[in-house]
Amino acid sequence: MEALRAAYVVHDRLHQTDPVAFAAAAPRIRAIAASGESKVPRGLMDQLPALEVISVFGVGYDGVDVAAARERGVPVTHTPDVLTDDVADMGLALLLAVARRIPQADRFVRAGQWPGGPAPLGRKVSGARLGIVGLGRIGQAIARRAEGFGMSIAYTARREKPATAYRYYPTSQALAAEVDFLMVITPGGDATRGLINAQVLTALGPKGYLINVARGSVVDQAALIHALEQGQIAGAALDVFEDEPNVPPALAARDDVVLTPHVASATWQTRRAMADLAFGNLQAHFAGQPLLTPVPQ
Ligand code: NDP
Repeated sequence: MEALRAAYVVHDRLHQTDPVAFAAAAPRIRAIAASGESKVPRGLMDQLPALEVISVFGVGYDGVDVAAARERGVPVTHTPDVLTDDVADMGLALLLAVARRIPQADRFVRAGQWPGGPAPLGRKVSGARLGIVGLGRIGQAIARRAEGFGMSIAYTARREKPATAYRYYPTSQALAAEVDFLMVITPGGDATRGLINAQVLTALGPKGYLINVARGSVVDQAALIHALEQGQIAGAALDVFEDEPNVPPALAARDDVVLTPHVASATWQTRRAMADLAFGNLQAHFAGQPLLTPVPQ
Protein backbone atom coordinates (compact mmCIF):
# COMPACT_ATOMS: atom_id res chain seq x y z
CA MET A 1 0.00 0.00 0.00
CA GLU A 2 2.92 2.35 0.72
CA ALA A 3 4.35 1.84 -2.73
CA LEU A 4 0.94 2.16 -4.36
CA ARG A 5 0.14 5.35 -2.49
CA ALA A 6 3.51 6.87 -3.43
CA ALA A 7 2.99 6.14 -7.12
CA TYR A 8 -0.77 6.45 -7.68
CA VAL A 9 -4.02 7.88 -6.39
CA VAL A 10 -5.39 4.92 -4.43
CA HIS A 11 -9.09 4.39 -3.70
CA ASP A 12 -8.86 1.78 -0.97
CA ARG A 13 -11.88 -0.56 -1.29
CA LEU A 14 -14.07 2.41 -2.02
CA HIS A 15 -16.58 0.29 -3.96
CA GLN A 16 -17.29 -1.61 -0.75
CA THR A 17 -17.21 1.26 1.72
CA ASP A 18 -18.64 4.29 -0.09
CA PRO A 19 -20.62 3.60 -3.28
CA VAL A 20 -21.34 7.29 -3.90
CA ALA A 21 -17.67 8.29 -3.73
CA PHE A 22 -16.81 5.23 -5.79
CA ALA A 23 -19.27 6.21 -8.53
CA ALA A 24 -17.62 9.63 -8.69
CA ALA A 25 -14.08 8.19 -8.92
CA ALA A 26 -14.91 5.20 -11.15
CA PRO A 27 -14.57 6.90 -14.57
CA ARG A 28 -10.93 7.76 -13.79
CA ILE A 29 -9.85 4.38 -12.37
CA ARG A 30 -7.23 2.83 -14.66
CA ALA A 31 -6.06 -0.16 -12.61
CA ILE A 32 -7.33 -2.63 -10.04
CA ALA A 33 -4.93 -3.91 -7.40
CA ALA A 34 -6.67 -7.05 -6.15
CA SER A 35 -5.81 -9.34 -3.27
CA GLY A 36 -5.88 -13.09 -3.82
CA GLU A 37 -9.33 -13.19 -2.25
CA SER A 38 -10.77 -10.13 -4.02
CA LYS A 39 -13.76 -10.54 -6.26
CA VAL A 40 -13.43 -8.68 -9.56
CA PRO A 41 -16.61 -9.60 -11.40
CA ARG A 42 -17.80 -8.38 -14.78
CA GLY A 43 -20.18 -5.95 -13.05
CA LEU A 44 -17.29 -4.13 -11.37
CA MET A 45 -15.40 -3.84 -14.66
CA ASP A 46 -18.59 -2.47 -16.27
CA GLN A 47 -18.33 0.51 -13.94
CA LEU A 48 -14.71 1.24 -14.90
CA PRO A 49 -14.58 2.47 -18.52
CA ALA A 50 -10.95 3.58 -18.20
CA LEU A 51 -9.73 0.26 -16.77
CA GLU A 52 -6.41 -0.83 -18.31
CA VAL A 53 -4.95 -3.55 -16.07
CA ILE A 54 -5.78 -5.83 -13.12
CA SER A 55 -2.89 -6.85 -10.85
CA VAL A 56 -3.66 -9.72 -8.46
CA PHE A 57 -1.61 -10.14 -5.28
CA GLY A 58 -1.60 -13.95 -5.33
CA VAL A 59 -1.03 -16.75 -7.82
CA GLY A 60 -4.70 -17.81 -7.86
CA TYR A 61 -6.89 -15.44 -9.86
CA ASP A 62 -10.19 -17.29 -9.65
CA GLY A 63 -11.77 -14.18 -8.09
CA VAL A 64 -11.28 -12.25 -11.35
CA ASP A 65 -13.59 -12.74 -14.31
CA VAL A 66 -10.68 -13.16 -16.71
CA ALA A 67 -12.97 -13.69 -19.70
CA ALA A 68 -14.66 -10.34 -19.03
CA ALA A 69 -11.26 -8.68 -18.70
CA ARG A 70 -10.07 -10.22 -21.95
CA GLU A 71 -13.17 -8.99 -23.79
CA ARG A 72 -12.21 -5.48 -22.73
CA GLY A 73 -8.56 -5.97 -23.67
CA VAL A 74 -7.61 -5.62 -20.00
CA PRO A 75 -4.63 -7.82 -19.05
CA VAL A 76 -4.60 -9.61 -15.71
CA THR A 77 -1.39 -10.29 -13.80
CA HIS A 78 -0.66 -12.51 -10.77
CA THR A 79 2.28 -13.50 -8.55
CA PRO A 80 3.42 -17.04 -9.42
CA ASP A 81 6.64 -18.69 -8.19
CA VAL A 82 7.49 -16.25 -5.38
CA LEU A 83 5.05 -18.01 -3.02
CA THR A 84 5.65 -21.59 -4.15
CA ASP A 85 8.05 -22.48 -1.31
CA ASP A 86 5.81 -21.10 1.42
CA VAL A 87 2.67 -22.81 0.19
CA ALA A 88 4.53 -26.11 -0.19
CA ASP A 89 5.99 -25.70 3.30
CA MET A 90 2.50 -25.09 4.66
CA GLY A 91 1.10 -28.10 2.83
CA LEU A 92 3.66 -30.31 4.55
CA ALA A 93 3.14 -28.51 7.86
CA LEU A 94 -0.60 -29.17 7.70
CA LEU A 95 -0.02 -32.79 6.71
CA LEU A 96 2.28 -33.26 9.69
CA ALA A 97 -0.07 -31.33 11.97
CA VAL A 98 -3.12 -33.44 11.22
CA ALA A 99 -1.25 -36.76 11.16
CA ARG A 100 0.81 -36.13 14.29
CA ARG A 101 -2.02 -34.22 16.00
CA ILE A 102 0.24 -31.27 16.81
CA PRO A 103 -2.51 -28.65 17.51
CA GLN A 104 -4.40 -31.23 19.56
CA ALA A 105 -1.25 -32.07 21.52
CA ASP A 106 -0.66 -28.38 22.17
CA ARG A 107 -4.22 -28.00 23.46
CA PHE A 108 -3.75 -31.12 25.59
CA VAL A 109 -0.70 -29.64 27.34
CA ARG A 110 -2.29 -26.20 27.81
CA ALA A 111 -5.46 -27.76 29.24
CA GLY A 112 -3.38 -29.49 31.93
CA GLN A 113 -4.42 -32.94 30.66
CA TRP A 114 -0.90 -34.39 30.52
CA PRO A 115 -0.83 -35.51 34.17
CA GLY A 116 -4.00 -37.52 33.44
CA GLY A 117 -2.24 -39.81 30.99
CA PRO A 118 -0.69 -39.84 27.51
CA ALA A 119 -2.14 -37.97 24.55
CA PRO A 120 -3.79 -40.01 21.77
CA LEU A 121 -1.42 -41.52 19.20
CA GLY A 122 -0.98 -40.07 15.73
CA ARG A 123 -0.39 -41.49 12.28
CA LYS A 124 3.14 -42.07 10.94
CA VAL A 125 4.07 -39.80 8.05
CA SER A 126 7.52 -41.00 6.92
CA GLY A 127 7.14 -43.70 4.29
CA ALA A 128 3.39 -43.12 3.82
CA ARG A 129 1.66 -42.71 0.47
CA LEU A 130 0.96 -39.15 -0.71
CA GLY A 131 -1.44 -38.26 -3.52
CA ILE A 132 -1.19 -34.74 -4.97
CA VAL A 133 -4.16 -33.27 -6.83
CA GLY A 134 -2.51 -30.72 -9.13
CA LEU A 135 1.18 -31.20 -9.93
CA GLY A 136 1.97 -27.62 -10.95
CA ARG A 137 4.55 -25.27 -9.44
CA ILE A 138 3.37 -25.80 -5.87
CA GLY A 139 2.38 -29.46 -6.28
CA GLN A 140 5.89 -30.27 -7.50
CA ALA A 141 7.44 -28.35 -4.59
CA ILE A 142 5.27 -30.38 -2.20
CA ALA A 143 6.41 -33.59 -3.90
CA ARG A 144 10.08 -32.64 -3.49
CA ARG A 145 9.53 -32.03 0.22
CA ALA A 146 7.61 -35.29 0.61
CA GLU A 147 10.50 -37.16 -0.97
CA GLY A 148 12.54 -36.06 2.03
CA PHE A 149 10.05 -37.90 4.22
CA GLY A 150 10.47 -41.07 2.17
CA MET A 151 6.87 -40.85 1.01
CA SER A 152 5.73 -42.58 -2.15
CA ILE A 153 4.20 -39.96 -4.42
CA ALA A 154 1.40 -40.15 -6.93
CA TYR A 155 -0.63 -37.39 -8.55
CA THR A 156 -3.44 -36.35 -10.80
CA ALA A 157 -3.53 -33.30 -13.06
CA ARG A 158 -5.20 -32.38 -16.32
CA ARG A 159 -2.33 -34.01 -18.17
CA GLU A 160 0.24 -36.67 -17.26
CA LYS A 161 3.80 -35.35 -16.74
CA PRO A 162 6.08 -37.81 -18.48
CA ALA A 163 9.15 -36.00 -17.09
CA THR A 164 8.37 -37.04 -13.49
CA ALA A 165 8.80 -40.45 -11.95
CA TYR A 166 5.64 -40.04 -9.85
CA ARG A 167 2.72 -42.29 -10.64
CA TYR A 168 -0.14 -40.65 -12.54
CA TYR A 169 -3.83 -41.33 -12.01
CA PRO A 170 -6.35 -39.85 -14.43
CA THR A 171 -8.89 -38.94 -11.73
CA SER A 172 -8.86 -37.74 -8.13
CA GLN A 173 -11.02 -40.71 -7.17
CA ALA A 174 -8.56 -43.25 -8.57
CA LEU A 175 -5.70 -41.41 -6.86
CA ALA A 176 -7.52 -41.17 -3.51
CA ALA A 177 -8.05 -44.92 -3.43
CA GLU A 178 -4.27 -45.51 -3.50
CA VAL A 179 -2.98 -43.04 -0.91
CA ASP A 180 -2.89 -42.26 2.82
CA PHE A 181 -2.79 -38.47 2.37
CA LEU A 182 -4.56 -36.55 -0.38
CA MET A 183 -3.11 -33.05 -0.90
CA VAL A 184 -5.20 -30.65 -2.98
CA ILE A 185 -3.30 -27.88 -4.80
CA THR A 186 -5.13 -27.02 -8.03
CA PRO A 187 -6.45 -23.59 -9.01
CA GLY A 188 -9.98 -22.66 -7.92
CA GLY A 189 -12.76 -21.54 -10.25
CA ASP A 190 -15.46 -23.37 -12.14
CA ALA A 191 -13.16 -26.01 -13.69
CA THR A 192 -12.26 -27.49 -10.30
CA ARG A 193 -15.43 -26.71 -8.30
CA GLY A 194 -16.35 -29.68 -6.13
CA LEU A 195 -13.55 -31.79 -7.64
CA ILE A 196 -13.07 -33.41 -4.24
CA ASN A 197 -16.58 -34.80 -3.78
CA ALA A 198 -18.23 -37.59 -1.77
CA GLN A 199 -16.92 -40.28 -4.14
CA VAL A 200 -13.33 -39.08 -3.79
CA LEU A 201 -13.62 -38.96 0.00
CA THR A 202 -15.11 -42.45 0.09
CA ALA A 203 -12.20 -43.66 -2.03
CA LEU A 204 -9.74 -42.01 0.37
CA GLY A 205 -11.24 -44.17 3.08
CA PRO A 206 -11.42 -44.29 6.88
CA LYS A 207 -7.62 -44.20 7.29
CA GLY A 208 -7.08 -41.42 4.77
CA TYR A 209 -6.45 -37.71 5.41
CA LEU A 210 -7.39 -34.75 3.22
CA ILE A 211 -5.22 -31.62 3.10
CA ASN A 212 -6.48 -28.59 1.16
CA VAL A 213 -4.18 -25.64 0.47
CA ALA A 214 -5.80 -24.83 -2.90
CA ARG A 215 -9.18 -23.09 -2.72
CA GLY A 216 -12.24 -23.87 -0.63
CA SER A 217 -14.29 -24.29 -3.81
CA VAL A 218 -12.27 -27.34 -4.88
CA VAL A 219 -13.62 -29.42 -1.99
CA ASP A 220 -17.34 -30.07 -1.53
CA GLN A 221 -17.40 -28.83 2.05
CA ALA A 222 -20.77 -30.40 2.93
CA ALA A 223 -19.55 -33.74 1.62
CA LEU A 224 -16.35 -33.34 3.65
CA ILE A 225 -18.27 -32.65 6.86
CA HIS A 226 -20.49 -35.65 6.17
CA ALA A 227 -17.46 -37.88 5.51
CA LEU A 228 -15.82 -36.78 8.76
CA GLU A 229 -19.02 -37.26 10.77
CA GLN A 230 -19.51 -40.74 9.30
CA GLY A 231 -15.89 -41.75 9.89
CA GLN A 232 -15.43 -42.17 6.14
CA ILE A 233 -12.05 -40.41 6.33
CA ALA A 234 -9.57 -40.13 9.22
CA GLY A 235 -9.14 -36.36 9.30
CA ALA A 236 -8.61 -33.15 7.37
CA ALA A 237 -6.30 -30.14 7.42
CA LEU A 238 -7.72 -27.08 5.72
CA ASP A 239 -6.21 -23.69 4.93
CA VAL A 240 -9.08 -22.64 2.67
CA PHE A 241 -12.88 -22.75 2.91
CA GLU A 242 -15.94 -22.34 0.73
CA ASP A 243 -17.14 -19.09 2.30
CA GLU A 244 -14.11 -17.39 3.87
CA PRO A 245 -13.77 -16.13 6.54
CA ASN A 246 -16.74 -18.21 7.69
CA VAL A 247 -15.83 -21.69 8.89
CA PRO A 248 -18.74 -24.04 9.61
CA PRO A 249 -19.09 -24.87 13.32
CA ALA A 250 -19.39 -28.51 12.26
CA LEU A 251 -15.72 -28.34 11.19
CA ALA A 252 -14.48 -26.14 14.03
CA ALA A 253 -15.97 -28.49 16.63
CA ARG A 254 -14.07 -31.55 15.40
CA ASP A 255 -10.90 -32.93 16.96
CA ASP A 256 -9.78 -34.68 13.77
CA VAL A 257 -9.54 -31.44 11.82
CA VAL A 258 -6.78 -28.80 11.67
CA LEU A 259 -7.84 -25.34 10.52
CA THR A 260 -5.77 -22.36 9.40
CA PRO A 261 -7.08 -19.01 8.07
CA HIS A 262 -5.78 -19.01 4.45
CA VAL A 263 -2.20 -18.34 5.49
CA ALA A 264 -0.20 -20.66 3.24
CA SER A 265 1.81 -17.78 1.74
CA ALA A 266 1.73 -15.63 4.86
CA THR A 267 5.35 -14.97 5.76
CA TRP A 268 6.98 -11.54 5.83
CA GLN A 269 9.47 -12.61 3.18
CA THR A 270 6.95 -13.99 0.72
CA ARG A 271 4.31 -11.32 1.20
CA ARG A 272 7.03 -8.74 0.48
CA ALA A 273 8.03 -10.58 -2.71
CA MET A 274 4.36 -10.84 -3.74
CA ALA A 275 3.85 -7.14 -3.07
CA ASP A 276 6.94 -6.22 -5.11
CA LEU A 277 5.73 -8.35 -8.03
CA ALA A 278 2.12 -7.12 -7.89
CA PHE A 279 3.41 -3.53 -7.80
CA GLY A 280 6.02 -4.28 -10.48
CA ASN A 281 3.30 -5.44 -12.84
CA LEU A 282 1.43 -2.15 -12.45
CA GLN A 283 4.65 -0.17 -12.93
CA ALA A 284 5.51 -2.18 -16.04
CA HIS A 285 2.07 -1.54 -17.51
CA PHE A 286 2.14 2.21 -16.95
CA ALA A 287 5.73 2.42 -18.24
CA GLY A 288 4.64 0.69 -21.45
CA GLN A 289 6.88 -2.28 -20.67
CA PRO A 290 5.94 -5.95 -21.01
CA LEU A 291 4.04 -7.23 -17.98
CA LEU A 292 6.22 -9.26 -15.62
CA THR A 293 3.76 -12.08 -14.90
CA PRO A 294 0.54 -12.01 -16.91
CA VAL A 295 -1.87 -14.88 -16.23
CA PRO A 296 -1.67 -17.65 -18.84
CA GLN A 297 -3.91 -17.25 -21.89
P1 NDP B 1 -0.05 -24.17 -11.41
O1 NDP B 1 -0.87 -23.56 -12.47
O2 NDP B 1 1.43 -24.23 -11.56
O3 NDP B 1 -0.54 -25.68 -11.12
C1 NDP B 1 -1.88 -26.04 -11.11
C2 NDP B 1 -1.98 -27.57 -11.21
O4 NDP B 1 -3.36 -27.93 -11.07
C3 NDP B 1 -1.51 -28.12 -12.55
O5 NDP B 1 -0.80 -29.32 -12.36
C4 NDP B 1 -2.81 -28.39 -13.29
O6 NDP B 1 -2.74 -29.47 -14.20
C5 NDP B 1 -3.70 -28.79 -12.14
N1 NDP B 1 -5.11 -28.66 -12.50
C6 NDP B 1 -5.72 -27.59 -13.03
N2 NDP B 1 -7.01 -27.85 -13.26
C7 NDP B 1 -7.21 -29.13 -12.88
C8 NDP B 1 -8.33 -29.98 -12.89
N3 NDP B 1 -9.52 -29.57 -13.35
N4 NDP B 1 -8.18 -31.25 -12.41
C9 NDP B 1 -6.98 -31.66 -11.94
N5 NDP B 1 -5.88 -30.89 -11.92
C10 NDP B 1 -6.00 -29.65 -12.38
O7 NDP B 1 -0.44 -23.36 -10.09
P2 NDP B 1 0.37 -23.24 -8.72
O8 NDP B 1 0.91 -24.58 -8.34
O9 NDP B 1 1.30 -22.09 -8.77
O10 NDP B 1 -0.84 -22.84 -7.73
C11 NDP B 1 -1.94 -23.72 -7.58
C12 NDP B 1 -3.05 -23.07 -6.79
O11 NDP B 1 -2.71 -23.03 -5.40
C13 NDP B 1 -3.37 -21.62 -7.10
O12 NDP B 1 -4.12 -21.47 -8.28
C14 NDP B 1 -4.12 -21.20 -5.86
O13 NDP B 1 -5.52 -21.43 -6.02
C15 NDP B 1 -3.59 -22.12 -4.77
N6 NDP B 1 -2.84 -21.35 -3.78
C16 NDP B 1 -3.29 -21.29 -2.48
C17 NDP B 1 -2.63 -20.53 -1.54
C18 NDP B 1 -3.10 -20.45 -0.13
O14 NDP B 1 -2.87 -19.44 0.52
N7 NDP B 1 -3.73 -21.48 0.41
C19 NDP B 1 -1.45 -19.73 -1.89
C20 NDP B 1 -1.02 -19.92 -3.26
C21 NDP B 1 -1.71 -20.68 -4.16
P3 NDP B 1 -1.78 -29.44 -15.52
O15 NDP B 1 -0.38 -29.43 -14.97
O16 NDP B 1 -2.09 -30.71 -16.21
O17 NDP B 1 -2.13 -28.19 -16.25
